[in-house]
Amino acid sequence: MNDQHNFCMLPDDERLPSDAKALEQDFHRYLIHHLGRFLGCNPYYQFKALSYTLRDRIMTDWLNTWKQHSKAKQRRAFYFSMEFLIGRSLGNNLLNMGLSDQTEKAMESFSLELEELEEQEHDAGLGNGGLGRLAACFLDSCATLKLPMLGYGLRYEYGMFRQEIENGFQVEEPDQWLRGGYPWELERSEYTQVVHFGGRTEHFRDPEGHPRARWVDTEDILAIPYDVPVCGYRNGVINTLRLWKSTATDVFNLAEFNAGDYVESVAAKNEAEHITMVLYPNDASENGKALRLKQQYFLASASLQDVMRQWELANGQDYSDFAEYHVFQLNDTHPAISVAELMRILLDEKKLDWDQAWSITRKTMAYTNHTLLPEALEKWPVHLFESLLPRLLEIIYEINARFLKEVAMRWPGDGDRRRRMSIIEESPVKSVRMAYLAIVGSFSVNGVADLHSNLLKKGLFRDFHELWPEKFNNKTNGVTPRRWLAYANPPLKRLISSEIGDEWICDLDRLEQLKPLAEDPDFQARWRQAKQENKARLARLVEKECGTVFPLDSLFDVQVKRIHEYKRQLLNVLHVIHLYDRIRRGDAGPDWCNRCVLFGGKAAPGYQMAKKIIKLINNVAEIVNGDPAVGDRLKVAFLPNYRVSSMEVIAPGTDLSEQISTAGKEASGTGNMKFMMNGALTIGTYDGANIEILNAVGEENFFLFGLKVEEVEALRRH
Ligand SMILES: *Cc1c(COP(=O)(O)O)cnc(C)c1O
Repeated sequence: MNDQHNFCMLPDDERLPSDAKALEQDFHRYLIHHLGRFLGCNPYYQFKALSYTLRDRIMTDWLNTWKQHSKAKQRRAFYFSMEFLIGRSLGNNLLNMGLSDQTEKAMESFSLELEELEEQEHDAGLGNGGLGRLAACFLDSCATLKLPMLGYGLRYEYGMFRQEIENGFQVEEPDQWLRGGYPWELERSEYTQVVHFGGRTEHFRDPEGHPRARWVDTEDILAIPYDVPVCGYRNGVINTLRLWKSTATDVFNLAEFNAGDYVESVAAKNEAEHITMVLYPNDASENGKALRLKQQYFLASASLQDVMRQWELANGQDYSDFAEYHVFQLNDTHPAISVAELMRILLDEKKLDWDQAWSITRKTMAYTNHTLLPEALEKWPVHLFESLLPRLLEIIYEINARFLKEVAMRWPGDGDRRRRMSIIEESPVKSVRMAYLAIVGSFSVNGVADLHSNLLKKGLFRDFHELWPEKFNNKTNGVTPRRWLAYANPPLKRLISSEIGDEWICDLDRLEQLKPLAEDPDFQARWRQAKQENKARLARLVEKECGTVFPLDSLFDVQVKRIHEYKRQLLNVLHVIHLYDRIRRGDAGPDWCNRCVLFGGKAAPGYQMAKKIIKLINNVAEIVNGDPAVGDRLKVAFLPNYRVSSMEVIAPGTDLSEQISTAGKEASGTGNMKFMMNGALTIGTYDGANIEILNAVGEENFFLFGLKVEEVEALRRH
């Protein structure tokens, strides 16, 4: 069953032919013989048949990549994230596999439009916003750079909710993205793991006299992995995203079964399946529900056990150089419980002593911080740990006791500092500070933009920076140019490649080569033509979804992102009201620039203020668009259900990108980058990665305004 035992790679002639004719035949065969549908069937099945056709062509490279990674003695990265906001995969996979043209041709022979089939795919909305999309972009980039990286996440039955707008209000509908089947996933039940909850701990001495612990009387839940291929850009590398689904063990409630409560005990299976049922729709705020902690531990435990299973296939139980071959990157504190879980496995199951286990943990864990907002800093009440994860709590206490000794050695007598730095917060509710656990257990702590990383060192993590300055570093966020430019913007892609070739797709700095063309009238005309095509596509989307007509000769002014007070959609809509007022007052003179203002984004279902902002935007839109005195001078629309696939249309069609968060609040932003690489100008504040973008593109492409972080702070103190 273990394919790692057989190390031979699949030969090249194992690859399926990928010419248009072969694709045509396979598509036809899948539709008729596998899915049992006629050619003129519901287009969702046409999408599925095409996806299977493509997946077949991914398989050989996927198996070979897997084999190579398990064979090579190299350090591998494991990206632990509660969110992967993947969006659609068909078009992006075709691009990366280099099969778009043949496929388009093959579909034409059935009179099918490739683009229409692509639109059949449900977005895999397994994330809230920037943090989840970053994870998805990292997967693409690591595969393209041939880095051995495996993504670990959860296979939520229901992803991010579908947003509908009724009477101007947000209404949340469940997102059944798996309905109809997800053709990209491959169940690998042979790698199922068991995850424990509840129970109690026992302490004893092993035959050598060492103190040991075991976790007993637990409730056990199965974690079944589903693998999704991650295609590198035309390099034969297919990395893996492994998503866990929870399910009951076979021995579930056997006692009840024997007592005759067969139906009851089968119904109780539901409980186990709840863990991966739904994604929590909170962006940049913690939630505090027990089920969320269960999800976090489920991800950490299943993933770490899976990594160790792979290690033991090649190395047996020898963990002496495990640390040299593994890095676990924690995407925010959501998977921070991994620090304690790795310790538990090494101590209780692999029988290492504390110092060995701690040395491995501290050399392999790395933590990415995504926010300074106090409401997003995760703290779990100790009483929750006591009932759900008693053994993990003991380990956290031990980590903390040893850590506080270190603090006391460095700052003798400084009790205040020990209280400040303790992983355990004593009041108001005794809790575990997950960020501190992540810092203490990691060799690296990074922020996600220059500004943000500096603020971490000066503010939130100041004490830790004083203790371990060498741990702190910056990794400014990024987005993949494959999806966000080459795939999303065909007209601009063609224009750029016609001038400088297509190596820019994997090396964006090469866009510098366009500089000499900036003043070339012919290039400018073609540039504008590409922009107009993209604006027409965006205007069609807005008209279809909102019923509002955007004239193509207007400025398209766009703010799409999660709705949040700090992102200041409110400031933007106040500007719209001001523009409307000017029109009404007759202050819209000859130099007036006609403007279409587009908003989009979801509010967390429990975030009342954000929901009111959505309602306000819709009310303003109704007034402005319905006022005959306004005409084409101003249009306003709120695009419902903002998601990855809508951003693929929005960013290319935008003239002006709104990045106007209060300075110091947006850790990085990634929407800002997608717009900028599609040639939009930006209006924005001194926040997150905006500053780095401004430095790269120059002041003439970036309208900078507002206070700097220090000025905001000074203003607040007044
Ligand atoms: C890029 C992206 C985000 C992040 O946008 P920000 O402007 O950085 O907050 C959120 N949601 C979706 C669907 C995205 O594509």
